[in-house]
Amino acid sequence: MTTSISTYEADRSIRGKLRRRWMRLYARRPARGGGPGHPRLSVTFDDAPITATTTGAQIVAAHGGKATYFIAASLLGTDGLMGPYAAWRDVERLRAQGHEIGCHTWGHADLGHCDGPRAEQEVMLNHHALAAHGVPAPHTFAYPYGEVSAAPKAALSSRFSLLRALHHGLIEPGADLNQAPSVGLEGHSAERDVVTWMRRAAERKAWLILNAHDVQATPSPWGCTPETLQRVLDCAQALGFELITVAEGARQAA
Ligand SMILES: [Zn+2]
Repeated sequence: MTTSISTYEADRSIRGKLRRRWMRLYARRPARGGGPGHPRLSVTFDDAPITATTTGAQIVAAHGGKATYFIAASLLGTDGLMGPYAAWRDVERLRAQGHEIGCHTWGHADLGHCDGPRAEQEVMLNHHALAAHGVPAPHTFAYPYGEVSAAPKAALSSRFSLLRALHHGLIEPGADLNQAPSVGLEGHSAERDVVTWMRRAAERKAWLILNAHDVQATPSPWGCTPETLQRVLDCAQALGFELITVAEGARQAA
């Protein structure tokens, strides 16, 4: 049931592209609140490589914030291209430190190719695994690979206060909380792109969600260095951002 992240390839067919475009218009839940009048930033880590739970968590905490970790329970304790994934004790430590634990399906399933019942099963398996370790049912969700099709989007939208995707954008009134945009802190141009989006969010007093993976000196193609994360959060501080979890942002936007 586990999808191998290392061998995954996005559906680049016309059909796949049309599905992505259509999904952004389907089963929407527009954000309402105008926000507290200052820009907000959420730092999210998907899959939870162990370095995200140690170095990543420390850097976010040093800037006075809490991060959101989207956990796919089947990955915990295994190895991957982003380095070893966190173990359950790391998830428990994150919770004790006040970070948010979100849901990312149990088997890191591509919900662009699932029906509704399979998507719900993936979520319930993850919730049961989390519950077995004392973690309550998450309020927020991230689509693995940012992918979703109609039935899973409709099926999961009532279960979570926000479902995060990977297309770029800000969260302002009208943005879809069932397929919320985010900007990736990954790759060579990550810092420049993220800072551009942060300046835009600061001007508009909007909410911006960053998505990240490993945080290490030699990061994977999906990760960043500790220095990059540090500079991005220094910049956020200078621009007057409040660091919030995704659950808190969703509460403000509802
Ligand atoms: Zn993922």
